[in-house]
Amino acid sequence: MNQRGSYRGRFAPSPTGPLHAGSLVAALASWLDARAHGGQWLVRIEDVDTPRCVPGADQTILQQLAACGLHADAPPVWQSQRTTYYQQALDQLVAQGMAYPCACSRKDIEAALAQSGHRRPRNGELVYPGTCREGLHSKAARAWRLRTESFRSTQWTDRRLGPHQQDVALEVGDFVLQRADGLYAYQLAVVVDDAAQGVTHVVRGEDLADNTARQILLQRALGLPTPHYLHTPLVLGPNGEKLSKQNGAAALDTASSEAAFHALRTAAVALGLSQSPANTAPQALADWTSQWQARWVCAPSVPAA
Ligand code: GLU
Repeated sequence: MNQRGSYRGRFAPSPTGPLHAGSLVAALASWLDARAHGGQWLVRIEDVDTPRCVPGADQTILQQLAACGLHADAPPVWQSQRTTYYQQALDQLVAQGMAYPCACSRKDIEAALAQSGHRRPRNGELVYPGTCREGLHSKAARAWRLRTESFRSTQWTDRRLGPHQQDVALEVGDFVLQRADGLYAYQLAVVVDDAAQGVTHVVRGEDLADNTARQILLQRALGLPTPHYLHTPLVLGPNGEKLSKQNGAAALDTASSEAAFHALRTAAVALGLSQSPANTAPQALADWTSQWQARWVCAPSVPAA
């Protein structure tokens, strides 16, 4: 498969803090995959969930990437400047009868689930019982949801993790497209932007794999193409939990070129790449690109995870 020229990948950090060791793994993997395919690599700042964003974190992340030698092929894009497109996509879904307004609070959802004996929180998320699917019953709309019942079980093959299947209607329920606070949901924004930016390959952390079926449903509902997916291994902290800004992962030190190179080498090890004899970041990146190409581009997809 020769995707030279047509390949577009991206790194899409949420500016909720600086990059940490875990997020650099996803950044490096997406950069290597783009380079190994001879494709383009884009950076998108996912600041759609404004209450979670930390002022200045976007600039810190861009500086950290640059310090590591991970340069994008186009200027970065900020989701906060793209809300018109998210609204257009939502309007399209409403016009198609695929999105509906919902008046339920979390308490209402919990009560409806308890009443029907279906209290099935999944990854801490409640499966929406469909209360407002047939109308608001004169309550005020709070959020907008995607109508999922007409979709069959979604199947997709991750380049690293292999075949996946999820019945979104059953396992997640009609999910939120626009939240009660008016903010557009991550699922909608990411699908609209991946398509608008012509992204052909998504490479991101394994913690996001569970969102993929929802994103594929949305792509189908909006008539957009589905990219290839590769989810990278997570970096665990000393307590065995995934490193995340939420659980206090330390910011990457990229203040000096030595520190940045050290951070890159650690990320490369997490990706299963062998140490490079190179003593500068650009040389090591070239070396890892060849290794990546042999493993993920030339080899058939889905070796043992
Ligand atoms: N913005 C998301 C995050 O930082 C990543 C989204 C994606 O790569 O699809 O967790």
